[in-house]
Amino acid sequence: KEKKPAADEPAQEFKAPVLCILGHVDTGKTKLLDKIRHTNVQTGEAGGITQQIGATNFPDYALRELIAKLPNMKIDIQIPGLLIIDTPGHESFSNLRSRGSSLCNIGILVVDIMHGLEPQTLESLEMLRKRNIPFIVALNKIDRMYGWKPMQDEAFFTTFNQQDENARDEFMRRARETVIAFAEKGLNAALYYENPDPEEYISLVPTSAITGEGIPDLLGLIVDITQTRLNKFIKYSPQLRATVLEVKVIEGLGTTIDVILANGEINEDDTIVVAGFEGPICTNIRALLTPQPLREMRVKGEYQHHKSIRATAGVKISAQGLDHAMSGSQLLVAESEDVIPYLMEEVQKDVAQIFSSINQKGKGVHVQASTVGSLEALLEFLKESKIPVSSINIGPVFKKDVMKAQSQIEKGNKKQYATVLAFDVKVHQEAVEYAETNGVKIFTADIIYHLFDQFTKYVEDVKREEKLASGKGQDAVFPCVLKIVEVFRTSSPIVLGVDVLGGVLKKGTPLCVPDKNNLIIGKVDSIEFDHKPVESRRQGQGSVAIKLKGMTSDQDSLMVGRHFEETNQLASWITRNSIDSLKEYFMDEMTMEDWKLVKVLKETFGVL
Ligand code: GDP
Repeated sequence: KEKKPAADEPAQEFKAPVLCILGHVDTGKTKLLDKIRHTNVQTGEAGGITQQIGATNFPDYALRELIAKLPNMKIDIQIPGLLIIDTPGHESFSNLRSRGSSLCNIGILVVDIMHGLEPQTLESLEMLRKRNIPFIVALNKIDRMYGWKPMQDEAFFTTFNQQDENARDEFMRRARETVIAFAEKGLNAALYYENPDPEEYISLVPTSAITGEGIPDLLGLIVDITQTRLNKFIKYSPQLRATVLEVKVIEGLGTTIDVILANGEINEDDTIVVAGFEGPICTNIRALLTPQPLREMRVKGEYQHHKSIRATAGVKISAQGLDHAMSGSQLLVAESEDVIPYLMEEVQKDVAQIFSSINQKGKGVHVQASTVGSLEALLEFLKESKIPVSSINIGPVFKKDVMKAQSQIEKGNKKQYATVLAFDVKVHQEAVEYAETNGVKIFTADIIYHLFDQFTKYVEDVKREEKLASGKGQDAVFPCVLKIVEVFRTSSPIVLGVDVLGGVLKKGTPLCVPDKNNLIIGKVDSIEFDHKPVESRRQGQGSVAIKLKGMTSDQDSLMVGRHFEETNQLASWITRNSIDSLKEYFMDEMTMEDWKLVKVLKETFGVL
């Protein structure tokens, strides 16, 4: 049950908007957050910027001081402040939700001005677009322009105007390149102070997370957008909106949940309901906690206790029975005993939605992630990439999870579906061993597209293997040129010591003697290095011994010293067919040099 706004509730009160930071790895998200947190504001102690649970609160008076630095913007601040989520990235962004909508009001997408758009920039753009979250771009690392003269914490114009022409030119050039990169993705973007229409064009705000330049512009623009374009969405209402950002075990408190309270209020002793891995959880709040203000830490312990907390805030909730709580779950408060079953159903619905992206015929990979939010992000991505999913789980990968993937083999589904895609979770040793002995692949990564790349490559490998097993690709001949360094046996079977002069020597390769009118002398039956068999050899890996086997009885009767000489070079015998087969099945094993050699041999043999 939700609290209805009372008629006498003040209607126009703003709450602090929730701000998220997203972007590719290494663009400076963490540094930017740090810089914002420590911005040198003069008012009060540390400018009143306070650490909350999972978030930093940036109060209106600190914002006012920053915005005063802007020569080009006059903003009348009405919001009480900003709540900036501390963990940048996908996961916290996707955990921030309640009843299907995002609790993030506005985003900062960080782009490294030296690198432009990168894979995770695009992923972040897609996530913001899907959830309809307005955002601006921090075009970060401007201090890296050649010859840039930093002015600590200044507004962009102030610092830009005092730069040399070269630094300014370089900045303009790179900014233009970024605008073009966005255009190539079908998106309009403009430097924020030139933006003709902020509804249509993405605003780019030049920043440096190291020098703090442009941060007044960044936060100024955020305030402006939230108060104008978003003012409907940032009004305080008593209707509770809260989400579990993280589940954490804290010494002395047991399992606690870190909650972002985006609307309404929570009280000590409230009965709360959240989703859990083993079914919904209903419990009573034991303590509502926020970090102690710095100066009081030593006196009263780590946390400050509250009777009641009002949005917008980050708060730690200590209660019993939270062991299996799920991050990304919405948090509901039960006003009375009889609504509890309904609330339980409601919180578990979110989770049910995720299960709907599972392949109905039970074909596909097994997917595992650390939180509901990250699982959801991964599932969305796999859906777009047309990779079917047959089962999912949250938390570390155990043997039982690998067995789910293994069942794909038993069902006769594609081999590549016997795969566990593990996103940002631990894989137990037992699971690794079980996978190895049962034909299951486990891929782990903490970046979605790395997981995708690994899997895509694996699928290609499997397909090629299958083609080979079915006899296709057997015509392929890798190019090589060999120098005979020793003759171990002159006739059937001929055994030679050779050096690879170019290309790659592989078992099964037919060889010929170009100087003897391309006489074919048989195929490579075995290769030995240091008396041990090897499959292939490239230049510079040392001499090897090869044994030849005739493909015809004529070839079997050839002799070294009679039909060809120790001083003759040998080369692989390639044909039109063998080249086509190479192209079709072995592109990834061939280097540029290999292809050049194919060309040379082709000409030598007169292959059309
Ligand atoms: P994240 O992965 O996006 O959180 O990136 P980090 O904040 O960890 O930054 C990655 C690297 O870039 C670190 O070595 C930072 O010191 C550096 N860096 C971040 N922002 C800036 C910036 O504005 N200027 C310069 N010169 N370096 C930066």
